[in-house]
Amino acid sequence: MGYGGPMSDDPKPLDPRRHAVLREGATEPPFSGEYWNLKDPGRYRCAGCGEVLFTSDAKYDSGSGWPSFTRPVADDRIATRPDTSHGMVRTEILCAGCGGHLGHVFDDGPAPTGLRYCVNSLALEFEPDEG
Ligand code: FE
Repeated sequence: MGYGGPMSDDPKPLDPRRHAVLREGATEPPFSGEYWNLKDPGRYRCAGCGEVLFTSDAKYDSGSGWPSFTRPVADDRIATRPDTSHGMVRTEILCAGCGGHLGHVFDDGPAPTGLRYCVNSLALEFEPDEG
């Protein structure tokens, strides 16, 4: 695996584009990322620390151009904080493991959660199911 892991004190240096998203809060252009249209079964790890954040069974096509999930793999994997930048009131989502910026969560998602976790592909690393 390419990660140092959450407990590693010698993490792999981040790709500059990943660094801009995870550590500086940048947003990739819609429909530009590696995963917005991916439907393969598997897990999505934080590209910063390797923690599993989302799984493909919670992924859906939101039409936004970013990977969209109805829920994280566990609520405690995701931290949130208010984001009032760009003249909007939004809720930022961050990796609870490393504090990396992931994207935002909105309340226009499908049942049962009604939530849309809108995540930058660059913040994620997909790991396909075996077989
Ligand atoms: Fe992380």
